[in-house]
Amino acid sequence: MASPTTIKVVDGILAGLLGIILMHYSIGVNDMTILDLRHIPVILVAFYGGFLPTIISAAVIIAGRFFIDVNYSSYVALFMMLAIAIGSGVIVRYLKAGPWKRWAVLLLYSQLIFSAALYIVVDNYSEVLDFALFHVLSTLIGGSLTLYFVDYIRNTSERYYRYKENAQRDALTGLYNVRSFDSHYNRIIEEAIEENEACAICLIDVDHFKQINDTYGHTAGDEVLKQLAELLSRLTRTGDILSRNGGEEFSLLLPCCTVHQAKEIAGRVREAVYEHGFLLPDQNKLQLSVSVGVSAFIPGSEERESLFQEADEALYKAKQNGRNIVCTSRECSIRYQ
Ligand code: GH3
Ligand code: MG
Ligand code: MG
Repeated sequence: MASPTTIKVVDGILAGLLGIILMHYSIGVNDMTILDLRHIPVILVAFYGGFLPTIISAAVIIAGRFFIDVNYSSYVALFMMLAIAIGSGVIVRYLKAGPWKRWAVLLLYSQLIFSAALYIVVDNYSEVLDFALFHVLSTLIGGSLTLYFVDYIRNTSERYYRYKENAQRDALTGLYNVRSFDSHYNRIIEEAIEENEACAICLIDVDHFKQINDTYGHTAGDEVLKQLAELLSRLTRTGDILSRNGGEEFSLLLPCCTVHQAKEIAGRVREAVYEHGFLLPDQNKLQLSVSVGVSAFIPGSEERESLFQEADEALYKAKQNGRNIVCTSRECSIRYQ
């Protein structure tokens, strides 16, 4: 993901290029002077991105204007763009108003500067009054439509990302759900094969969870699951994928991890859970334990499906060996307690 500054720089350059394109769709007032909507992209990036992209877009447009020709009009255009950029930056920073009011102020301000520049460069202003009025009208209509459509697209894409994020998450704990687990599982194995690296999985199941529900109620059970999810999240490294695969069963996908390292991580998880006091709604603390099944995938030597199956078998073995324990399909750690 690019940094916010990089995004602002890119936005500024793109807005500048759009301004240059708009200059090429201009009305020629006389030999030297052109009228267009180049100020709209500049105030648009001011509106959404602040000072930095505004100044960059203005600089790109100024350079583009000098590329078309160098004359008195292009020097006036230089000062005009600087005034629009700096003024828009100030308006956005200091004007506290709703979005449409701010936009209207930006449109009027930039148009005022543009019209003033036109007044300076033409000898007989009354001769170009038709052009000038048409330009004001184009700015107001074009500018309003621009904000309407940009705002619409931003809202739609924001909603899309929110829905996408929600579809990937488990509603109770906020961890990845089983559907995202599947896609991360396939991705991590693909990457392991490509890079010829091992990867591993820990299947974590709460011991005797049914008893917790039966004794303290389902709501208390939910609360415990949420706290467990928080505790597990704190134990994961960046890149690890922690999911709630259903009920009281969680999984931890570990990219670039050998079975030896995975056993160590699983041991830390088991210990941390056992030592944690889970807070019940009646403020009492509850001790609980988890059993963990561990398996690793080594490219070339294993089938990709066997990673999950082996971890599931290892988890079954952990339950058979008395719970609160970490097992692989071959061996179990020494039982704690
Ligand atoms: P074991 O040590 O063998 O894993 O025993 P267990 O009781 O944890 O396992 P079992 O599969 O018998 O019971 C799981 C329980 O988890 C049964 C179900 O009521 C409960 N459960 C599943 N999903 C939820 C949930 O979202 N919230 C709550 N509170 N309980 C849930
Ligand atoms: Mg269980
Ligand atoms: Mg279970």
